[in-house]
Amino acid sequence: MVRKIGVLTSGGDAPGMNAAIRAVTRIALNNGVEVVGVKNGYRGLLEETFIPLERGSVSDILDRGGTFLGSARLPGFREEAMQDECVKHLRRNGIDALVVIGGDGSYRGALALTKKGINCIGLPGTIDNDIPGTDLTIGFDTALRTCVENVDKLRDTSSSHHRCSIVEVMGNHCGDLALYTAISCGAEMVITPETGYDEIEVIERLRYLGNAVRKNHAIVIISEKITDVEALAKKVTLNTEFSGRATVLGHIQRGGSPTPSDRMLASRMGEKAVDLLMEGIGGQCVGIIDNSLTAMPIQEALERPKASRKHLYRLFDRLV
Ligand code: ATP
Repeated sequence: MVRKIGVLTSGGDAPGMNAAIRAVTRIALNNGVEVVGVKNGYRGLLEETFIPLERGSVSDILDRGGTFLGSARLPGFREEAMQDECVKHLRRNGIDALVVIGGDGSYRGALALTKKGINCIGLPGTIDNDIPGTDLTIGFDTALRTCVENVDKLRDTSSSHHRCSIVEVMGNHCGDLALYTAISCGAEMVITPETGYDEIEVIERLRYLGNAVRKNHAIVIISEKITDVEALAKKVTLNTEFSGRATVLGHIQRGGSPTPSDRMLASRMGEKAVDLLMEGIGGQCVGIIDNSLTAMPIQEALERPKASRKHLYRLFDRLV
């Protein structure tokens, strides 16, 4: 029987995390279960920074980006001794179960706690869409909107000056943010961990677009951690018809009011997490697959290969 549920946000913050906290809180309270917010991810378990959450504690946060509970990384939480210490703190405060909103690292922490007797449910909260076991993560749609809005603006100025805009977007080794942005913005090229990167090919393609196709501008969307985009832009200027300009969108991608889709996803996933805990289930994570809400063991999700995006890369190629 669950009497008190804790909720925490861990890893990188993402728009929609607040909507998930709100859903967990309201739905648990409506089930007669007490709720506490844990400040700053797993660090809050260690430091026992627990705040009781009432219905009103989560008012006016649905439309706010970030996470009002704060998020943190605590590398020491990988060690059993620290996990045992945290379990002791949870028990001392009467917290029987936990909802963990974060990425795959946070999921591993949730699994460790479940094995130690505290049922945990993981919700995928990250702008990178890099969590296996779900087609979409909370925050991805909002980050995509930010990328698209900014690339649209760059297009206006690029086309006036015969420029090639090279735009670096986030993704943490996952190309989804770049791919979805490229399709949504009608980019000329997309470079991601999935496409691979060959500088000579990029220059040749841009030469072709400038000389043979006579395009007056070009947009290249590239995932972070692939190459130095400033250096690439200089090579574009030296070797093609275009004047190369690099833009790194950076941390603005993490901010902003969550889109309605992210608010819906977070609310639905929050509901599912509480329902699972009320059934006495732990060690699972919630996902959305083919538009249906799912739950699967965290271990299984972590071992799953990420769903293929081949059809979307093919679509991109057919649109240029
Ligand atoms: P993001 O995708 O935004 O990086 P994440 O949840 O993957 O989010 P991590 O930094 O990998 O971010 O993990 C967040 C926290 O989860 C870590 O600081 C640590 O406290 C905990 N954690 C990570 N890996 C493990 C593990 N193997 N065992 C227990 N806890 C872990």
